[in-house]
Amino acid sequence: MPGEHPQTLTRSTVAVRSASAPAAPDAETLHEIHRQERASVTGAPVTAPLLPAERALLRSVEHAVLDERRLLTATELSALAALPDSAVMALASLAHQVRLTWCGPAVEVEGILSAKTGGCPEDCHFCSQSSRFDTTVKATPFLDTDEVLEAARQTAALGASEFCIVLAIRGPDERTLARILELVPLVHAETGLNVAVSAGILTKDQARRLAEGGVHRYNHNLETARSFFSEVVTTHSFQERVDTCQLVREEGMELCCGALLGMGESDEQRIELLSELQDLDPTEVPVNFLNPRPGTPLGDRAPVGAWEAVRWIALFRLALPGVILRYAGGREITLRDLQAIGMTAGINALIVGNYLTTLGRSSADDLQMLDDLRMPVAALTVAF
Ligand code: SF4
Repeated sequence: MPGEHPQTLTRSTVAVRSASAPAAPDAETLHEIHRQERASVTGAPVTAPLLPAERALLRSVEHAVLDERRLLTATELSALAALPDSAVMALASLAHQVRLTWCGPAVEVEGILSAKTGGCPEDCHFCSQSSRFDTTVKATPFLDTDEVLEAARQTAALGASEFCIVLAIRGPDERTLARILELVPLVHAETGLNVAVSAGILTKDQARRLAEGGVHRYNHNLETARSFFSEVVTTHSFQERVDTCQLVREEGMELCCGALLGMGESDEQRIELLSELQDLDPTEVPVNFLNPRPGTPLGDRAPVGAWEAVRWIALFRLALPGVILRYAGGREITLRDLQAIGMTAGINALIVGNYLTTLGRSSADDLQMLDDLRMPVAALTVAF
């Protein structure tokens, strides 16, 4: 049912829908499919028809997510990740059905504003806002109130429902927190937009004050797998990020918790990340693809390929059927002309306009894409 939360969907619907469904392969069978498909991956054209084993895997996953209404296991996700490129469109098609069934047809549009840019003391190796790397991004002070309100008005004019105030900091000090708490009700009163905030690591008291101050959604990304995190960040731990995400939920804000793909992580580590996200149960998951920034330690990495990106968008939707899955940074250089395919592979939300330190494509192009796809723009949330 559109908008319902995974945990609410496993009760009444299962018995009715399971009656005529095929038996899902057990883990051993899935591993065998996985092994067979690995052998067929090399050089497979994307137009090749599905093999019987591929169809069987997709049918079992369809049954699990649409009929049983359960979350996929890491074993099932590994089998899907090993499908050849020729099966990616079928994977995307299934993910699109899952998105429509669990979330409905609407697409949520959001604008983000970097309200305090650069000069961050942390060392996230992908980030041009770290003061530890020699990049072109220079530290600027917190924008004044008029600048923030003007950006919010422009976002509202695009038909967006969400506006995220982003700060490049490890976490807020008292002065910064007070500024955020001053801005949030002003933006909401002036524009009617839901206001999200991204301000790093929080204490329990800070999370409570932000929730009480009207912050609708708080963004704090896991970015990558626990087992890979220390390769790309050394100044704080993965667990610190998890702790903040849990505080956000405990204090009653919606959790926005995203990923950044293409930093050198393995497929298994992407699935490990998906399992962590299943446990955290966020409302929204922004999917970023690395846009290598000159001067950062990851500045010379090759971007994720377009077809690989479509595969992982579909896998994120299949692993997290009820979330708001948002296109975020890097989609322009990764997907290029395939951006519309991502919208039919599980994405149901967009950041429009520019990102924090890189330019996005024009808002008009994005809104035209949604119009061409006949996808209505609306606010989304999860019904707990
Ligand atoms: S990702 Fe955030 S915490 Fe990390 S360096 Fe950039 S601004 Fe700082």
